[in-house]
Amino acid sequence: MAAGDSSGVEVRLNLPNKGRALFASRDHAEGESLFEETPIVSAQFLWNKLYKYAACDHCLRSLETAQGMCRRLTNNPSLELPHPECCPVDDSAYVSCPHCQKVYCSATCRDRAWSQYHMTLCRRASVSDDDHPLAKLEEAWRNIHYPPETCSIMLIARMIATVKQAKDPSSALAAFSQFCHTTVNEEEEIAHKLLGETFQSHLELLRSLVTGALYEEQLQQWFTPEGFKSLFALIGTNGQGIGTSSLSVWVKGCDLLTLGDEERESLDTLIDRVYDDLDKACGQFLNCEGSGLYSLQSACNHSCDANAEVTFPHNDFTLCVKALRAIKQGEEVCICYLSECDVERSRHSRQKILK
Ligand SMILES: [Zn+2]
Ligand SMILES: [Zn+2]
Repeated sequence: MAAGDSSGVEVRLNLPNKGRALFASRDHAEGESLFEETPIVSAQFLWNKLYKYAACDHCLRSLETAQGMCRRLTNNPSLELPHPECCPVDDSAYVSCPHCQKVYCSATCRDRAWSQYHMTLCRRASVSDDDHPLAKLEEAWRNIHYPPETCSIMLIARMIATVKQAKDPSSALAAFSQFCHTTVNEEEEIAHKLLGETFQSHLELLRSLVTGALYEEQLQQWFTPEGFKSLFALIGTNGQGIGTSSLSVWVKGCDLLTLGDEERESLDTLIDRVYDDLDKACGQFLNCEGSGLYSLQSACNHSCDANAEVTFPHNDFTLCVKALRAIKQGEEVCICYLSECDVERSRHSRQKILK
């Protein structure tokens, strides 16, 4: 499931005072990628999806062109972005699930989703859509968890479905039990933060909807009130935000163009204007957004003086941890949890955030 090159780092377990931690297994230069990995499970946020941020249902790749996204958000169908070649979006590869019409960026994503969890979660047309237990679960979640979104109940649904569909359910379960566990008090705090004052009744509502939609005998420990709360705390603590955007791909592409001074200046002015217009139209709500559970990244401890950062360089859920400065073999790798989403923004909006 989780894949990627992890040869530059190693996880050490059972360390005094910190449990798991990640260490460099060789020297890394500043700017170098320490490792890349895909999540064990991930899901787009539900309001983000409802607001038509089109993303691959599996890898969260942004499916719109930069121009299409700007037209939609600014409500200006005649808006034209120059240098369309800087935004390579190949919609000829898009496919959908033949049963429920969920859209994927490629047949590979559709097949992976189906074999890992979508066979269980697919809403075949037999039940009218609003009455489907999973549609009710999504609606309940949206009514409890308004934007800005930090989490999705569908992450729990995909965890359950992943274990259900696994050829070896016990090893699928083990993949989830590696994530850090919190004390009962911390669990209360996380549930409180995610679900608000009346979190006990919200949690109970979600648990009954999840149970109704997906109960599984061999996973009964996840469906008890205590087990469900722990599961909730697990995704609240370990869920890593994911943001993808064709616009930022296009801007990065534009940054790399070789242009004369005048042309560069007018392009930069245009990009700034696009960001201003988008800012007026939708504020910070620019990306396809979701969250996922990553095996190696979740072993990284937090530091405000981090030596590494999380990025999403491929416009999908592939996470990359990059050295912010030179890191010596044996040094602990730390990331700053607060800025994950900001680092992916282009230099234009980054400058704005810094201002
Ligand atoms: Zn995809
Ligand atoms: Zn389907």
